[in-house]
Amino acid sequence: MNADDLTKRVAIITGGTRGIGAAIARRFKNAGYAVAAVYHGNATAADAFSGDTGIPVYKWDVADFDACQDGVASVANDLGGPVEILVNDAGITRDAMLHKMTSAQWGEVIATDLTSCFNMCRAVIGAMRDHGFGRIVNISSINGQKGQLGQTNYAAAKAGILGFTKALALETASRGITVNAVAPGYITTDMVGAMSEDVLARIEGQIPVGRLGNADEVARIVQFLVSEDATFITGSTVTANGGQYMA
Ligand code: NDP
Repeated sequence: MNADDLTKRVAIITGGTRGIGAAIARRFKNAGYAVAAVYHGNATAADAFSGDTGIPVYKWDVADFDACQDGVASVANDLGGPVEILVNDAGITRDAMLHKMTSAQWGEVIATDLTSCFNMCRAVIGAMRDHGFGRIVNISSINGQKGQLGQTNYAAAKAGILGFTKALALETASRGITVNAVAPGYITTDMVGAMSEDVLARIEGQIPVGRLGNADEVARIVQFLVSEDATFITGSTVTANGGQYMA
């Protein structure tokens, strides 16, 4: 398989309309992949992104098993082939100290950030196994590696992704499928923009390179992991955090 053939493959990026996912979707489009970007509620951002890039956007909830099955089938039908590249990027935070965290805050984050990986992988894995090819990249977080106060839900989900990635990598290695995780540090997106200036300044002071990352710095890693240059990498976690935490 040469690089030209590889770029004709159909790719889904969940959370592909904003932030890190949007940067990944743009890179994939520029590389020639047939890309679909999934969002959940922000139609204004999704429409603007689609208008700007020409990338088709699909609305479904990655926490909903059946919606993922139906959505993947629609993308495969619309884009003319089975989904062979999946990036599980969609994620949310619902921060609270555990003694104040509600069951809903816990459940929403586990469902959206972790169960989504099961839902989406379950929807694509059969076709990948049949075709003897697949690339899956799951977006974890520095806070899944080191923990973070106020984020027991998020840290559990993001740490769960790392175990999920390794187990699925073992199951699929003999089938031409690679499964890897990327653990970004603090990246300038809407998710981080919601934090106060004080907190951001304190975090910046903890990052050895002296700044937050940008979404394209994560997208470049994901592009590498799905490329022909990364055929021997599976079950790995690539950390990109400016030296803030060396796992
Ligand atoms: P943003 O908040 O900027 O974007 C989130 C994207 O996910 C949006 O497209 C959003 O859609 C989509 N999404 C959210 N919930 C759902 C859902 N239930 N179903 C489908 N799509 C959904 O996030 P970031 O770009 O900052 O983060 C992307 C990923 O990277 C997340 O998993 C996050 O945890 C992780 N990460 C981020 C870091 C950072 O510093 N930014 C650091 C480490 C990890 P909509 O627009 O419709 O809401």
